[in-house]
Amino acid sequence: MTDIAERASAGTSHELGRISHWIGGRLVEGTSGRRGPVYDPATGRQAKEVDFASADEVDAAVKAAVEAFPAWRATSLSKRTEIMFRIRNLVDIRRKEIAALLTSEHGKVPSDALGEVARGLENLEFACGIPNLLKGGYSEQVSGGIDVYQIRQPLGVAAGITPFNFPAMVPMWMFANAIACGNTFILKPSEKDPSASIFMAELLAEAGVPDGVFNVVHGDKVAVDRILEHPDIKAISFVGSTAIAKYIYETGTRNGKRVQALGGAKNHMVVLPDADVGMAADSAVSAAYGSAGERCMAVSVVVAVGDVADPLVEAIRARLPKITVGPGSDAASEMGPLVTREHRDKVASYIEKADAAGADVVTDGREHALYGEDGFYLGVSLIDKVTPDMESYRNEIFGPVLEVMRVATYDEAVGLVNDNQYGNGTAIFTRDGGAARQFQFEAQAGMVGINVPIPVPVAYYSFGGWKDSLFGDLHMYGPEGVQFYTRGKVVTARWPDPGTSQVDLGFPRTR
Ligand code: NAD
Repeated sequence: MTDIAERASAGTSHELGRISHWIGGRLVEGTSGRRGPVYDPATGRQAKEVDFASADEVDAAVKAAVEAFPAWRATSLSKRTEIMFRIRNLVDIRRKEIAALLTSEHGKVPSDALGEVARGLENLEFACGIPNLLKGGYSEQVSGGIDVYQIRQPLGVAAGITPFNFPAMVPMWMFANAIACGNTFILKPSEKDPSASIFMAELLAEAGVPDGVFNVVHGDKVAVDRILEHPDIKAISFVGSTAIAKYIYETGTRNGKRVQALGGAKNHMVVLPDADVGMAADSAVSAAYGSAGERCMAVSVVVAVGDVADPLVEAIRARLPKITVGPGSDAASEMGPLVTREHRDKVASYIEKADAAGADVVTDGREHALYGEDGFYLGVSLIDKVTPDMESYRNEIFGPVLEVMRVATYDEAVGLVNDNQYGNGTAIFTRDGGAARQFQFEAQAGMVGINVPIPVPVAYYSFGGWKDSLFGDLHMYGPEGVQFYTRGKVVTARWPDPGTSQVDLGFPRTR
């Protein structure tokens, strides 16, 4: 491990690795006296502790970001692009170290952690095209001698508040576009796995991002509430659970800020009778249990239409004993532990509830040998004959539990998708192009997959759900991300005397 990774994971002089804030281009130890534990989910032991910021510490980060903004927004597009390329290259070169931090604090296995970094990198690559993305429109001669053109300008200080399940990718969803557009940024990462954010802060500094342009404050509700009320923060991007997303949206907008707040999910995968059962089962298993189901785009419900139900449930069930659950340190592990003991217990409680409510627990993750050991493991669960009134269906479980609902018709399947409070992603598996097209037309969700179980858009589209999966108007990253982090200005100009030319025989180049 390199210097940076060692510092990020081992901390300073404290017995437990201590994770501090990053303000004004350097590590700043917290002074609030409040800290939180960071566990290694594979062993169940606390490995580090993270400083929790006070309101004053958030203010210090905002001050650094405010001071850095004028010079950063005035930095030429060429220069900002050059820096974005350097960030992209450093994240690429250091991807294994970032992934190792994710495995050590989140628990996800290395292949999954590397996949997370790769999807984050796509956002950095998109942001490298910022000169093209910020091009405005121009109308010549709208009136005699008058031209009109539109430009997009940064907002000022933007903040990002991120969840535990993607400690590297979701911050990159946000800060890549935010800083490329000329804003300065404050990240409040999840307190459960905060090291990747500090590692990335150091990479940004190494890439030439000026001090104060990118800051990290750790913490809990105290830090978040200060972000929500601070008058110098102009925009907030949030990703997390629905209850908090709603709170962030309502409080932030009441305080005059631009807010995009992405919430929880319950993603239905509809399987029509004509689908290839083997392919549908492979997809359902991969999408339900990858990352231990701790993905907002995980498939959590399979909706089996008509007589596909019996063969499909059997095909899924048959695949489950082959899934290797274990620590990320073991190359054979395909699924790691859950993030904390509390979360593991909450997920397990839904298996109990579904069983008590009359569902058919086909495979019970609590029977896995590692369940109940020191690490936060839970095996994979498959629950059949789930009905809409069951608590395990009404709530987001966010763990390795796949539920199956049986319906007679396509219309009933779409009804389930559309009646659900969440509308993040959904998918249909079929060989019938007409049915797929109809589903795309009427599904009430922000991201739809056709024979693709986890339809996370590539970085040059935008990510976001509908209904209780997103509060706000603009989706995250991609073109809508650029729109979110900038505001338009329309200039109407008349130049009666163009007298500003000069002779310059040098090779024309960007400045
Ligand atoms: P969470 O809502 O508990 O936490 C998210 C962030 O909010 C963290 O930084 C946390 O410190 C902060 N927070 C928590 N409680 C708070 C409070 N009372 N007041 C102010 N701030 C608070 O979410 P999580 O458990 O870290 O992440 C899992 C959730 O995120 C799931 O619901 C998942 O679906 C969702 N998620 C959604 C998307 C999406 O794109 N829609 C992506 C990833 C995760």
